[in-house]
Amino acid sequence: MYERLSSPRILDDTRTLERLKNSALKPDSPRADRRTAGAAPGGLTVIPGSFAYHRPTSVKDALSLLADLGDEARAIAGGHSLIPMMKLRLATPSHLVDLAGVADLKGIRIEGADIVIGALTTQHELVGSDLLMQKIPILRETSLLIADPQVRYVGTLGGNVANGDPGNDMPAVMLCLGAIYHVAGKRGDRRIAAREFYQGAYFTALEPGEILTAIRIPIPAAGHGHAYQKLKRKIGDYATAAAAVVLTLKDGGTVASCSIGLTNVAETPRWAEDAANILVGSRLDAANVKRAVAAAEAITSPASDQRGPAQYRTKMAGVMLARALARAQERARA
Ligand SMILES: Cc1cc2nc3c(=O)[nH]c(=O)nc-3n(C[C@H](O)[C@H](O)[C@H](O)COP(=O)(O)OP(=O)(O)OC[C@H]3O[C@@H](n4cnc5c(N)ncnc54)[C@H](O)[C@@H]3O)c2cc1C
Repeated sequence: MYERLSSPRILDDTRTLERLKNSALKPDSPRADRRTAGAAPGGLTVIPGSFAYHRPTSVKDALSLLADLGDEARAIAGGHSLIPMMKLRLATPSHLVDLAGVADLKGIRIEGADIVIGALTTQHELVGSDLLMQKIPILRETSLLIADPQVRYVGTLGGNVANGDPGNDMPAVMLCLGAIYHVAGKRGDRRIAAREFYQGAYFTALEPGEILTAIRIPIPAAGHGHAYQKLKRKIGDYATAAAAVVLTLKDGGTVASCSIGLTNVAETPRWAEDAANILVGSRLDAANVKRAVAAAEAITSPASDQRGPAQYRTKMAGVMLARALARAQERARA
């Protein structure tokens, strides 16, 4: 019963549990009363604490609710990261502000040289978008490696990138693509580069009461090569390590531009700028790829966990990167 109801990620990642327990939701916080009061016999809690549910239909109303309700309120999108945490009483919001009824937060559109994706766009909608398939195909490839169709039908792009879990796949892809996050708050709107958004596991640049409204992605050059390579223990698992690559080639086959993101090998997604710079001007020959892989591995600091010891996960990041580079090169040539 317990395993069936709860996220495998939450259950098997003791590192995450420890970090969450040590965070603002630690057991001796004021919220602990609610947690223990609702605990099931034997101390195993699989039912969320009680909460009030709000369903605004505009960004303005959502922001007002979050401002009025303060610390006790939490935005919810697809709920596929938040609800498992609530079931374990690792998150105990008294108010859920459901963003699903806000039509302005949905949709995928072109704006000049960028594609803008509403935060509430589901991972399933990313998979099915012809526009994305044509312009930014790495988003489809990555979405298809997230969980399973059941999760992708409701899990949103905004929730995936705002969550701050280093295991989420989209953040590293956003670093790779140079995405900009549109954020709205009671004090106004602001834009934050994905490369500056992630501050630590579950800590981001979002201020209390702010919501992510959209993700703006510069369209990569036509003919670019891309790949997202993810090592996981089984279908639907989070990454042991994963690498995102977007590159362009000059006529002769030398690399004109390259960007690399790494998933789940540090407390935050990593943008491997030095590794990418090594490859610019090269023909992706074995010696340069080896140097780039070493540079990428050098910026990882994974924990040892059920997915393997830290050294293994670092090495797997290198293996995923080498594979992603080869696949991206193949696609750029084609
Ligand atoms: C079985 C299972 C397997 C999974 N496997 C993977 C996987 O392999 N890879 C992967 O990347 N993910 C995986 N996930 C997570 C899934 O992709 C989630 O849907 C996603 O991480 C969060 O999106 P959500 O819309 O469900 O967000 P929610 O769970 O609703 O919210 C997550 C957090 O983000 C905040 N939030 C959400 N939207 C906004 C917004 N617009 N503005 C501000 N804050 C916001 C919430 O307050 C909450 O703190 C898995 C989930 C499950 C249950």
